[in-house]
Amino acid sequence: MVEPHSADSQELLRQQTTLARFGELALRSDDLDAILTEACRLAGEALGTDLAKVVELQPDGRTLKVRAGVGWRPGVVGTAAIMAEDDTSEGYALKTGEPMVSPNIATETRFRYAPFLIEAGAKAVANVIIIGTKDRPPFGILQVDSLKPREFTQGDTIFLRGYANLIAAAAAVARLRAIEEVRAEEARQRALLETQVAERTEALGRSNAQLDAFAYTISHDLRAPLRAMEGFARILLDDFAEPLGEKGERYAARIVAAAERMERLINDLLAYSRLQRHKAEPRIVDLGRTARRIAIETRAELGDAVEIALEPSMPLVLAEPGVLGQVITNLVANAAKFCRRGAIAQIRLHTEIRGDRVRLWVEDDGIGIALEHQSRIFDVFERLHGQDVYPGTGIGLAIVKRGVECMAGTSGVESGLNEGSRFWIELPAAGNDGAWTEQAPS
Ligand code: ADP
Repeated sequence: MVEPHSADSQELLRQQTTLARFGELALRSDDLDAILTEACRLAGEALGTDLAKVVELQPDGRTLKVRAGVGWRPGVVGTAAIMAEDDTSEGYALKTGEPMVSPNIATETRFRYAPFLIEAGAKAVANVIIIGTKDRPPFGILQVDSLKPREFTQGDTIFLRGYANLIAAAAAVARLRAIEEVRAEEARQRALLETQVAERTEALGRSNAQLDAFAYTISHDLRAPLRAMEGFARILLDDFAEPLGEKGERYAARIVAAAERMERLINDLLAYSRLQRHKAEPRIVDLGRTARRIAIETRAELGDAVEIALEPSMPLVLAEPGVLGQVITNLVANAAKFCRRGAIAQIRLHTEIRGDRVRLWVEDDGIGIALEHQSRIFDVFERLHGQDVYPGTGIGLAIVKRGVECMAGTSGVESGLNEGSRFWIELPAAGNDGAWTEQAPS
């Protein structure tokens, strides 16, 4: 025969059923707020209290915010907070880790209670701590509040403790899930970013291809009519000088000069546009030999108008010979061109070892550059003088900058107006410190 349950054992059964139901819910749901609210409802129901809540400990370690609850007026859950001071039952529970019970708030002498709790008419309170996972602070406190003074038995507090431990496990799982979701989102963002980068790279590739086609058009389609113009203007000058007369001859000569200038511009633009897409393949280059070759070519072209002093020996660098030659040629040509009126340009090329890099200086004693113009002159078409004073296309230094960049180097200038200019390029050094080129021929 089955014994009828006593009141105590029925109570126990109710509490154990509650624990089992809550355990199932906590396992099934992944919404922590819903789990906590249900925990409050079931705990209040099991203990016959009217109010219940979970207060969550905030990162400051003192503020307990009402995260979930049942029986409270609107505006408490999600907003109200309790400061866990020493003279509060919450502060005491957090400090000792033990359940705290006030059977009658009206006669309670140890603790004061939060105003919203008194306002709600709570007369008796039981607190149990919801522990945190390993090495972490407690999640918060589970509180049941009765509108009548009442005792909480040891069985009640044991039930609440077991209950709070289930809540702690649910909170830990939710935290892990949240971390997994933070991570999944990160992976999604990364994938999105990679797709965007791939799309942009493809778009860039397409626009580079268009630029290629454009450069090709310039070189072939524009050059042919340009040569025709120049050629026919020359024929006019050579064979029809008499009927042209002095004025006509002057005009034809201007056509030739303009066509020559346009051809230089096209050539420079083509060189620049090629460099924009160029992937350099640096190898060990004899900087001294390259500098000497360019000095010889410049002297041959300009004769007595320049004097070039070269450092007797220069280090080896990592560079692409063709690009390096183009860069140094442009710098030396500028050093020769922007000299003082009527003066012989004094140019000096020397190097400096800076860590694992080699800096080549191209110095002149020319007209110099005011500080405020020094950065923009490396941009395409930036010139500081009229064509009649110092002719040029305004692309030379842009080629220097881009050319050096594609060899993993840097460039710059030190100058002042009327102080001469000291342009420099810096490239990775090659070989050992002792790797110098042979003595330059005098
Ligand atoms: P370009 O020489 O065809 O004008 P660059 O791009 O080579 O074009 O140079 C841009 C401008 O920078 C020049 O027009 C000139 O004003 C200034 N510049 C370049 N090199 C020197 C130099 N060595 N001394 C003074 N000014 C210079």
